[in-house]
Amino acid sequence: MLSLKNISKYYNVGGAKTYVLNKIDLEIDGGEFVSIMGPSGSGKSTLLNVIGLLDAPSEGYHYFMGEAVHQLKEKQRAALYKANIGFVFQAYHLIDELTVYENIETPLIYQDVKSGERKALVADILDRFNIVGKKDLFPAQLSGGQQQLVGIARALIAKPKLLLADEPTGNLNSKQGEEIMELFRKLNKEDGVTIIQVTHSEKNAEFGSRVINLLDGKIDSSRQV
Ligand code: ADP
Ligand code: ADP
Repeated sequence: MLSLKNISKYYNVGGAKTYVLNKIDLEIDGGEFVSIMGPSGSGKSTLLNVIGLLDAPSEGYHYFMGEAVHQLKEKQRAALYKANIGFVFQAYHLIDELTVYENIETPLIYQDVKSGERKALVADILDRFNIVGKKDLFPAQLSGGQQQLVGIARALIAKPKLLLADEPTGNLNSKQGEEIMELFRKLNKEDGVTIIQVTHSEKNAEFGSRVINLLDGKIDSSRQV
């Protein structure tokens, strides 16, 4: 599904190159559930953002769904993202002024899905996630766990092949976090969604099939779960 070859990302700090990612080689197959771990500042979020086409590396070769991403223009990259990737953020990133229903519907509007089909798709996911009763509420009226469910529903509504999540349970209590991880496991096993998450939690990592440890912008180790 994706391949990174010799990927580096650096910032110029006081005229010197400071590497956040340093010569990363990584291949991820369709159907995997990968956890990226490592200390704060090791480059986990940057790596996830590069994989998710939200951030461009400084150097290297990046292939995703058969496309040479490093050769794409910004607009083409954005189109590739919209067609294939769902992103779940630690702090939910819901739009405060929109209801649960409208938040989940947003990606479909961006993709020009017709109104009738949008209604059916949103109704289906509200039902699946057991949040039909919350559809007219605003994010501020929900608990953290409910907001994250909405964030995940929004990431999944357009049926992405790749689901990326940056500390998806970071703001949740352990019960809410476990429910989210159970949901990820189900999406991966039953629906075949490829998942890559950044996590500090060994317990969360156990839900996946592979763990990659980053240290100072390099892959320090990798193991199957
Ligand atoms: P990011 O990875 O998004 O840059 P941080 O790595 O700074 O963010 O931390 C994300 C969250 O995880 C924060 O709430 C932080 O307190 C917590 N955290 C950071 N390092 C650890 C750790 N080693 N073990 C457990 N929690 C951590
Ligand atoms: P992690 O998710 O493992 O905490 P990040 O990918 O968030 O790591 O960040 C890795 C490093 O990149 C951090 O040390 C951070 O300070 C640095 N960094 C991120 N953005 C910039 C920037 N715009 N300029 C300079 N350094 C940056």
